[in-house]
Amino acid sequence: MTRILIIEDEPDMRRGLQDNLEFEEYETVGTANGNEGLRLALKESFDLIILDLMLPGMDGMEVCRRLKEAGSRTPIIMLTARESESDKVEGLESGADDYITKPFSLQELLARIKAILRRTQTHPSAVHEYSFGDVTLSFDKYEAYKAGKPLDLSPREFEMMRLFVEREGETLSREEFLKEVWGYTSLPQTRTVDNHVAKLRQKIEDDPDSPRHIITVHRMGYKFIR
Ligand code: CA
Repeated sequence: MTRILIIEDEPDMRRGLQDNLEFEEYETVGTANGNEGLRLALKESFDLIILDLMLPGMDGMEVCRRLKEAGSRTPIIMLTARESESDKVEGLESGADDYITKPFSLQELLARIKAILRRTQTHPSAVHEYSFGDVTLSFDKYEAYKAGKPLDLSPREFEMMRLFVEREGETLSREEFLKEVWGYTSLPQTRTVDNHVAKLRQKIEDDPDSPRHIITVHRMGYKFIR
């Protein structure tokens, strides 16, 4: 059974999440406290952690950082209260796999949970390591190198590269990226994908203005060429 740890200090929110996730047949453990959450996450085995950003004691960012430092690879969805906090989370690249801004719909959260679990559970190791040009990606270790130098790819950028690599040569639509990498089911901004592709090109292409690996397919999306 899929186990989800919920670290959230607002009692109504925590219980609501637990009830709804249990209704969806997930097993849940809830705690209001960051320190306790960290202890549980390190001691027990979970498939996913839902982590509130603003917590008394140790905040979500710190919990996230300590988990990654301890070598935990359990995926984390961060809950943030405001759009400005989301920016902060993204900016600091705390190591969370995804974040969702309150108030959010249950449907939205469930879609994100399913997208992350699909990535981590069904094909945990479809591709371990992959090289093209002078770039090497290690999906197991979340490490990337270009010309021997470490590349700073965010978890999201890794997942985009994973999708590209797994579907090499195929044209992938922006909607497909949003569904597979972001877990969106409704229609968000496809610009988001373009922005992330632009960032990825800056990192992996020799000349980002005339990319050789991540190719734009006019009106369709993108494709990856080795
Ligand atoms: Ca809170």
